[in-house]
Amino acid sequence: MSTINKWANRPKRWSISRRNLMNKCPRAWILKYGFGRRQGGFNQHLRNISDWSSTWRLMQRSLRGVIIERLTAFSNDKVWIERDLAAKIRHRIIGAIERQKSVIDVIETRIGGTSTLRNKIKRKEIDRLVEIACYRFHAVMKSKPIVDILQGRITEWYTFSRLEVTGLDKFNLHISPDLVWISGSTCHLLRFTVQGVSNPGDDKRLENMAMVMWATVQKGLPEYAERYIVENLFWNRGRWNRWSERCSQRNLSDAIQMIRKDMDAMIDLHNRLGPSCDLSQIPLANNKRTCRTCGHRDTCPGGEDLVRARLEQSALEMAKASNLRN
Ligand code: SF4
Repeated sequence: MSTINKWANRPKRWSISRRNLMNKCPRAWILKYGFGRRQGGFNQHLRNISDWSSTWRLMQRSLRGVIIERLTAFSNDKVWIERDLAAKIRHRIIGAIERQKSVIDVIETRIGGTSTLRNKIKRKEIDRLVEIACYRFHAVMKSKPIVDILQGRITEWYTFSRLEVTGLDKFNLHISPDLVWISGSTCHLLRFTVQGVSNPGDDKRLENMAMVMWATVQKGLPEYAERYIVENLFWNRGRWNRWSERCSQRNLSDAIQMIRKDMDAMIDLHNRLGPSCDLSQIPLANNKRTCRTCGHRDTCPGGEDLVRARLEQSALEMAKASNLRN
């Protein structure tokens, strides 16, 4: 079976991170998710390269991990040693950097030279990232709803993994919240966004509303959309901000519609790849900032000079369209 057919037969997945990646750079999305998953093969290398993250991103991921770890320890009555915080964060960041080293080796074998991803990470830089993460951790512990949980004002609460899957048509959705708590007849669904924007637009609102779809199929949680408040705790401009909004049946339907539209766009994008896996037809990033943190920047034309690569791509498309007309 060809690589492309393997993809076509797999259940399609939707998550906020996949959606963000597709909107920022369709080519990066297709390199990460558009090929068959085959352990040990070249497709696996492609996925590993796609997963490469900057140290800043690794710090953010480590921070989210320790916040969940803290809540889990509290829920299981486990001792939490505050003075170990910096070591825990450092361990997570350094572990992730080590795991990424083999990815850089693969890239360097392919390009026959030194990858632009190979930065010597200085101890001082790690110290600074750990300091930032600790600061944000302490701040979030004093923010609602975390402080209310730790001080016993919220008693009924649960954490969930983002890996949980919810079905929609033939799609698998990763739309579970990080944290759920009940107050009276209302159920709150919250996601942490370690770096957010100050004013989430309509799209971001709907992405969050998708959590209600997950909740309504869970045993013991309310059936009606109106009983949910959807929340986001995000870091912006030096502090944690809390966005919240009560859901409605209309919001929920709009979120489902948005996901279906995204899935159509993903399938369409994959069809453009064609059986010969022709990446030249796949649009590049909208902004060169996306390329700066992309694992493919050594081998993608956009990584070298995005403006020129986009111009060349549109010239090729125009030539192809005029050939088809003649
Ligand atoms: S280098 Fe830029 S254009 Fe190329 S895949 Fe990465 S983000 Fe997209």
